[in-house]
Amino acid sequence: MASKRDYYEVLGVNKNASDDELKKAYRKLAKQYHPDANPDNKKEAEAKFKELNEAYETLSDPQKRRMYDQFGPDGPQGFGGAGGPFGGGQGGYYSYNGSGFDGFGDFGDLGDIFSFFTGFGGRQSKKQSGPRRGADLNLRMDITFEEAYLGVDKEIVITRNEKCSHCHGTGAKPGTSPMKCPSCQGTGQIKQVQNTILGQVQTTRTCPECHGTGEIIKEPCDECRGKGTVRKQPKIKVHIPAGIDDEQTVALRGEGDPGEKGGPNGDLYITVRIKRHNIFTRKGNNVLSEIPITITQATLGAELEIPMVDGTKEIYKIPEGTQTGTKFTIRNKGFKNVNSSIQGDYVFTVIVQTPKKLSKEQRDLLMQLAKTMNEQPPIKKRGIFG
Ligand SMILES: [Zn+2]
Ligand SMILES: [Zn+2]
Repeated sequence: MASKRDYYEVLGVNKNASDDELKKAYRKLAKQYHPDANPDNKKEAEAKFKELNEAYETLSDPQKRRMYDQFGPDGPQGFGGAGGPFGGGQGGYYSYNGSGFDGFGDFGDLGDIFSFFTGFGGRQSKKQSGPRRGADLNLRMDITFEEAYLGVDKEIVITRNEKCSHCHGTGAKPGTSPMKCPSCQGTGQIKQVQNTILGQVQTTRTCPECHGTGEIIKEPCDECRGKGTVRKQPKIKVHIPAGIDDEQTVALRGEGDPGEKGGPNGDLYITVRIKRHNIFTRKGNNVLSEIPITITQATLGAELEIPMVDGTKEIYKIPEGTQTGTKFTIRNKGFKNVNSSIQGDYVFTVIVQTPKKLSKEQRDLLMQLAKTMNEQPPIKKRGIFG
């Protein structure tokens, strides 16, 4: 393992630096090397950030610092390597996971740093300056087969952020207004060239004064505590179009969370789940069903009452000698296609029910019938072409 850089060197302080000096140095460098502040150079920044945390963890602990001073970075018996008693190697305070922190900004005091690095609490909702689109909301909605067939209008209650009406979304107490952040001139970003032990480094970081918003609120609104938004549970009307299929999504533009600084609202997406039906199933735009018929209906032909999805009935004539499993199609009684004027069909399959219980009279009649049909029907031979 390559030998480590001296921890004092990492922090840019001398050997007899006070705790305060350590803290100060750490704070400054942690912001500078935070991976989120170095989007173009993340890998290198991550390595330095990790090294920095390791150094600070050791030197800020009096006992560890004494050991370090005495034995150096490799310690007695290799102590201090990755995962060694100095810790840090496996993360320690460092919990950056590559997906970005929400909480990067001014650390305030060191208590904040620690909660921040371990991923608990810390500051939240760092905003970019400039217009920002509101968040999209995603919901699921269960509807019945009939509702999917006919379309339906529903009213649902959702939870979303809404612009605070008290301060009109500014976050500032009514009568006051947010002022342009003097530290960053409203840009939300601070650029610096620093001379460090690693050479000259230019960094862009989130403005610690305004946390990147470019504005400072001197007197926050009482209603929303300066956030500019409040949680609300409005009722929303949703139109589900006829023909919608399972797992299809209806988008309601602008019904998501509000945008910031003139940015557009997010959208509300509702994905439907269609409940199973006792009689009907769906295949593409077709409605399928199975219709039980008796042996006499199958043999003699019959007029059947076929239940439709909209609750009506269609009369359908099946011919004499209908076999079980035969499919019949009623045109244009299936689902409407949501995106076109095409409408699917209604396809039903007849299932011949062999009677299980017969009255004496029925049995006698069937026996008579049987006598006239004494032979087993011939086994059909298939030709080459089926
Ligand atoms: Zn407000
Ligand atoms: Zn600022």
